[in-house]
Order: sequence, then structure tokens, then C-alpha cells
Amino acid sequence: MADAEKKTEAALLKEKLAAKKPSGALSLDKEIIEKADEFCEGYKTFMTTSKVEREAVRTAQKLAVEHGFTEYDPSADYKPGDKVYVVNRGKNIGLAVIGKNGTKNGVRLVIAHIDSPRLDLKPNPVYEAGDLAMFKTHYYGGIKKYQWTCVPLALHGRIVRLDGEYIDVCVGEDENEPCFVVSDLLPHLDREQAAKPMSKAILGENLNVLIGSRPFNKDKESEQVKLNILNILFEKYGITESDFLSAELDLVPAYKPRDIGFDRSLIGAYGHDDKVCAYPGVMAALDVDTPESTVITFLCDKEEIGSDGNTGMQSTFLNTFIEDLAEADGMKLRHVLAKSTCLSADVNAAFDPTYASAFEERNSSYLNGGVIITKYTGSGGKYDTSDASAEYMGRIRKMLEDKQILWQTGELGKVDGGGGGTIAKYVANYNVDVVDLGVPVLSMHAPFEVVSKVDVYMAYLAFAAFFEN
Ligand code: MN
Ligand code: MN
Repeated sequence: MADAEKKTEAALLKEKLAAKKPSGALSLDKEIIEKADEFCEGYKTFMTTSKVEREAVRTAQKLAVEHGFTEYDPSADYKPGDKVYVVNRGKNIGLAVIGKNGTKNGVRLVIAHIDSPRLDLKPNPVYEAGDLAMFKTHYYGGIKKYQWTCVPLALHGRIVRLDGEYIDVCVGEDENEPCFVVSDLLPHLDREQAAKPMSKAILGENLNVLIGSRPFNKDKESEQVKLNILNILFEKYGITESDFLSAELDLVPAYKPRDIGFDRSLIGAYGHDDKVCAYPGVMAALDVDTPESTVITFLCDKEEIGSDGNTGMQSTFLNTFIEDLAEADGMKLRHVLAKSTCLSADVNAAFDPTYASAFEERNSSYLNGGVIITKYTGSGGKYDTSDASAEYMGRIRKMLEDKQILWQTGELGKVDGGGGGTIAKYVANYNVDVVDLGVPVLSMHAPFEVVSKVDVYMAYLAFAAFFEN
């Protein structure tokens, strides 16, 4: 080749020794991009029916059943290729495909979370002020509070009545239904508010949600607007005010996922963190044939508030399921875990050119750069993280290179710029090799987050490749 002869000695040495700059979507063939676009149509559909964890579990369970998965029965005998699922309290689901070697060489885990930041109702939420009916909320997860005002909100969740009956609520998603909103002060009168730092301008106790404004009737009773709302709720759900005590009701943005950009390369939606990893994880489990080792995609809850509780990753639920599988193979749990590997399937911050100074560009992840391997998260000098080993990083890197999956490394912003964590450290504590691998997200935790279609598809390819190992 004539061009090669012209290369200088330095150019040739650089080619041999220096890390190649990831070329992102530029390096992808048209067919791959088309497949990514097609895959993301399924993702957008998944998103519309999976805004809160119970709904995500139901959607995943429905997909699993359609793909031949049956509910796990601890007393049954399973053979390689059998597909089972387990559900924990309606908020976790595990999809397992039994491998040729069962659990003898450990299991392969892909774990994503299906809870996202939102506004939860307080136990005594309904009140009237200034002739308006309102909900009091307590925000869930890390939010920038000002972003949650003046956004159309839908109410999702479950109410358990005193008679033991439960009602699943979903109001505001259909455009023919009403939705809800947190008000904000007009700019004409915000001089005092505008002078405050951003974190103080909108307080948690100001995230009150407008739910009605008409009085019940002309009787001389107090709080007629609130009464009218209680009456509507009684007629619709058979609930009284006290039933809010035994309810889990969440306000989430009321809009559907939308393509972003003239080229439609991106998707804007509520809750990409972390359904953008949950969906590819589910699809990888549905599409695997008979793996070598048993594979499990697990969708967990409570990640955004510290993974506590019996549906969070600090719960023993997943471990006890793996223990059941291990015992069926005559194995001890601890021996299975020691040989198990996990991809903690979670998102990382995509480089934002408008806020470039928050990032360290050589170690940031980029939209269209492919899946991100995040070796460690945490803050304050790698505090609060499991920090994957060189050996495990090497194994995952080789897997991605061998399969020609577009990938990049990522760090959560510049050193001491802030920080955060994932479920990786809880999985590592089981004595499992684990690293974070997921999708870059722009405007993470905002009511409308942005991801790239190519990256979502690369996550699917990565999880599928992992399940083959
Ligand atoms: Mn996350
Ligand atoms: Mn998050």
C-alpha cells in the first residue's frame, strides 16, 4: 500500500503503542446502526409500561412468559436450557437460564435497577390551601428539585385498603386523563428566590402537587375542594383518606419516550437510569439459548436510595435464589459465588460539552461511544466502591474486543467533583467478581434523560456476549 510506505517511524510506533481513540459511532457499519434503531423501538415500548418498579417487573415477567420462561419451583428438576423466573414482592424479578454446567463454575449475573428518582406521596398527602387541593410529597432518590416543577406528572402505584383489597393506580399517562403538576413562582415575583443558591431555591417541602380546585358543593363546610377530591377518589377507587397510609404512590413525568435530534439518534425519556440497562439485560436473557454456566438477569429496586430494604440489593433474595440453584446441583452457595461473575448494569454520566468543566475529558464516557466500563465509582478518594480487579477488567475487555462491541471507559466526573455509587459493591461483598457496565446518559436523574440508540444496543450485545462466557 502506497500510503503505508509514507508513514514516518514515529507514526508507525504510535500506531503500535498508543491507545486508539474510540471513534464512536463513526466506526459502525450502517447495518449495525439500523439494528440499534430497531432494538430501541422495543426499548421505547418497554419504557412506556415500566415507569415504576412494579410495572417494570410486570412488563419483564410478561416478556419472559412469552419467551417460554416458567415460574421457578424449588422442588422441580431443571435441565440445561430450561428458563425460569422468580419475583420478589412484585418489585424484583430474576430471569434464569440453566446452563450446561449449571452452577458448578459459578453463575453469570447481569443486575440492573428499575427504580428511578421521582416524587413519592407522604402517608398523609392530601390537603387544601388557598382553595386548591394538593399532595404533599417526599422526593425519592437524588433530584435537582427545580427540575421537577412545571412538568406534567402522572400518579403510579398501589393502594391497600383496610379490607385487604389492593388497587393499582395509573393516572396521567393517557392524554385523555388528567395529570398533575408542581407549581413554581413567576419570574416577576421571584427576586428573593432567584437570589438563593440553586439547591435552596426549591425546597423539598415545596414539591407540593396540584390535584384539584373545585369545591364539592355550596354547603358551609370547610375544605370543600379537598372534600371533592376525596369524593372523586372514593367513587373511583373506593378509598378514604386513611388508605393513603397503606399505599405506595409515586409521581413521575407523564410523557412518553421520544426520539431526539433531526437524525433521531437519541432517545429522551424519564427513567433511562436504569431501565436503559434493565431492558437490554432482559432481552439478553430472553435470547440466550443454552449457556455454559447458568445465567441470571436480575432487576433490583431501591438502588436510588441506597439499596436497602428487602427488595434492594442488600437483601438476601438473589443470594437465596442462587443457593436454591446451587443445592440442586449439589453445590454450596459460597463455592458458587466465589466462581460467579457479574456485570453491574448501570449508567454513567455522558460528557456534556455545555458543562465540560465538570468532567475530565480523557476519562469521561461519551454518547455514541458504546457501553461504558466503570472500574470504580464512589467519591473522596475511591471511597465506597468495590473497584474491579485488573484480572476481571482484562476478562471483560477481551470479551468486548473479541465480539467487536463498541465500548469505552468512564469515570463519574472529575476527581472530587461529586460522586455516586451503584449496586456493584454489594455484589462484590458476596465474593463475586463484578464491574459496572452500562450506557452513558445525558441529564442523568432529570425528568427527561437522554441516551444514544447505538449505546443501548451495544449494552444488549455486551450482556449477550457475557452470557456466552
Ligand atoms: Mn443507576
Ligand atoms: Mn441513579
